[in-house]
Amino acid sequence: MDLSAIEHNIAVLRGHAPGAEMMVAVKADAYGHGLVPCARAVLAAGADRLGTAFLREALQLRAAGVTAPILSWIITPDEPLQDAVAAGVELSAGDIWVADAIAAAAGRAGRTARVHLKADTGISRGGATAAGWPALVDRALALQATGAVEIVGLWSHFACADMPGHPSIGRQLAAFDEALAVAEKAGAGGSHVLRHIANSAATVSLPAARYDMVRPGIAVYGLSPIPELGDFGLRPAMTLTARLAMAKRVPAGTGVSYGHLYTTERETTLGLVPLGYADGIMRAATNRGQVMAAGRRRTIAGRVCMDQFMIDLGDDDVREGDEVILFGPGTSGEPTAQEWADSLGTITHEIVTRIGARVPRVHR
Ligand SMILES: *Cc1c(COP(=O)(O)O)cnc(C)c1O
Repeated sequence: MDLSAIEHNIAVLRGHAPGAEMMVAVKADAYGHGLVPCARAVLAAGADRLGTAFLREALQLRAAGVTAPILSWIITPDEPLQDAVAAGVELSAGDIWVADAIAAAAGRAGRTARVHLKADTGISRGGATAAGWPALVDRALALQATGAVEIVGLWSHFACADMPGHPSIGRQLAAFDEALAVAEKAGAGGSHVLRHIANSAATVSLPAARYDMVRPGIAVYGLSPIPELGDFGLRPAMTLTARLAMAKRVPAGTGVSYGHLYTTERETTLGLVPLGYADGIMRAATNRGQVMAAGRRRTIAGRVCMDQFMIDLGDDDVREGDEVILFGPGTSGEPTAQEWADSLGTITHEIVTRIGARVPRVHR
């Protein structure tokens, strides 16, 4: 993990959102990059806040001594809300029962909970719809009057920010403005209340979506939020490498890996790469994914297994221990996470977040 790339990317994103605060999404182990080291790196690079999906991610940060403001946004019944309030984790409420649960937890914790009210402006995921929003705001204000909660944010999330020009984007901005107006009229506004809706894609493509704060995730890790529009000057932080665990000569006509989906055309050297689908190398990459080995691109030979896959190295001079690069910034000819995503029909978010826990993370 190249932490200097992360620092660079924070500066790039700052340039896109001057004057706005920046909350970096570090959910899912910082998109597979390592939660605590990345949280420290983004804060050192000037990010103001951190965002997590789950309370246990936020509590993990607190346990590691991270004191920066953290917002955590997915809450289900029976979660350690009291611990979160006690740890000063800010919480999202997109429904009345959540606001009530947070207030009750605040009572038990003996501390006011800082709450961001979430409006569903069109993604139809978390958050109150326009119909439910006034009641949520009213309940939050009533809870604020008791001292149990303090409304510190009003927020929402885009459905199609990575599709510039998509008609839902303008509709969501209008719906967000309407939700803000309703909240402000009811008394939940004020200059200390952060209004935020922009993920990475909106941060780099939609100045009107900045409001008081942007919430980039994928772009911080150097992967383009809108690949069709280029890389936005971002630098990928993650390089995934392995060392050949075996290199051996086999004759022509040798079936390779489960199902013999690859057969050698001539006598050749096969290399064993000790990463498999348990490590996030998707089985769909069978006979498809590319890696860099011995100075050249190689296509995975046959099935990706749980712990390993094979590559065909021809007559090249290789030995056990030689480095294989699965993806990286692309500066040495290796594939990028974007290429892996494209070849597997997915997005880079899925490529990097799936790298399994047993793959050691090294931060430089
Ligand atoms: C994941 C997430 C983000 C960051 O999204 P990116 O597309 O990675 O920039 C922002 N806000 C919320 C609510 C999220 O869940």
